[in-house]
Amino acid sequence: MPSFVITEKCDGCKAQDKTACQYICPHDLMTLDREKMKAYNQEPEQCWECYSCVKICPQQAIEVRGYADYIPLGGSVLPMRGTDSIMWTIKFRNGTLKRFKFPIRLTAEGSIDPYKGAGEPDYSKIKQPGYFNYEAKK
Ligand code: SF4
Ligand code: SF4
Repeated sequence: MPSFVITEKCDGCKAQDKTACQYICPHDLMTLDREKMKAYNQEPEQCWECYSCVKICPQQAIEVRGYADYIPLGGSVLPMRGTDSIMWTIKFRNGTLKRFKFPIRLTAEGSIDPYKGAGEPDYSKIKQPGYFNYEAKK
């Protein structure tokens, strides 16, 4: 079942150019009503419940109503993302709460150089099938 926004919690990411949920959705589903400054899922039937928007929302304003086989009615699965870990709060339908904390990275945020060890691109190969863009340094 798709994601949905709890409008009382959403602050429209404080009117920045692009909201966090718009930025992260791999399917471009989240959009912002600029009059109300509330985000919403514009095509719920296309949502693949990846939880990316749920994890990134700084206001914890997005939830995914999970399928009944793993989140029975009355239960919920809520993540809270930190800089180096994520805390999952699991609510069982009898009201029991359990929390699980997992590390989400082993390196300092912003410390990764994705092109480290890569050489300059060879644009003469740009139309070759399978060519990506950078070649490993020889
Ligand atoms: S990321 Fe959260 S607070 Fe920001 S616009 Fe989306 S739902 Fe609202
Ligand atoms: S759960 Fe994933 S696919 Fe669905 S709206 Fe959020 S980010 Fe997009």
